[in-house]
Amino acid sequence: MTQGFTLWLTGLSGAGKTTIAIELERQLADRDVRIERLDGDTVREGLTRDLGFSKVDRDKNIERVTFVAKLLSRNGVGVIASFISPYRAARDTARQETTNFIEVHVATPIDTCAARDVKGLYAKAFAGELKDFTGVNDPYEAPVSPEITLHTERETLNESVQTILTYLEARGLIPVAEPALSIS
Ligand code: ADP
Repeated sequence: MTQGFTLWLTGLSGAGKTTIAIELERQLADRDVRIERLDGDTVREGLTRDLGFSKVDRDKNIERVTFVAKLLSRNGVGVIASFISPYRAARDTARQETTNFIEVHVATPIDTCAARDVKGLYAKAFAGELKDFTGVNDPYEAPVSPEITLHTERETLNESVQTILTYLEARGLIPVAEPALSIS
């Protein structure tokens, strides 16, 4: 059995964390790896639905997710966690507490995220209708030395996913993909 890991995607809203996490999970499906995907939006509908977006609440959100990731990753599960997780200290705690923590900075610039505006939140934040919105009127502390940095403004989704898969293979955390059969 392969070891567990905690692949932690951090970045601004709309950076591509969820999209990458879903595609990564899909591509890992046929590699015989046990995966659990934890996503900011879905976790906030359940485990952390009592929390808001103050610094205290954001820290509690990540603290609870870290606890879940710790239990799973130490039991051989590959955790894909996609959370804005704007505070460096909270991510560093996750690094210390979980097994094989890998920080992935989805470093999409804010102008690209705002142009995508998947949920219409940037427009509201720039109009002053939303407070505590990361990158606009709330801090985002970028990782200092992430294991992986992705640039979705100039990479395709598949390229970003492939970067992660190659890294996980190199670390021996997932089986190497079998080469496609070529018929000559
Ligand atoms: P986040 O989870 O970081 O808030 P989402 O994944 O929900 O971001 O949204 C990212 C948006 O950007 C999606 O609409 C996705 O289709 C789009 N997108 C465009 N190019 C890329 C890319 N190369 N990688 C990931 N997402 C991309």
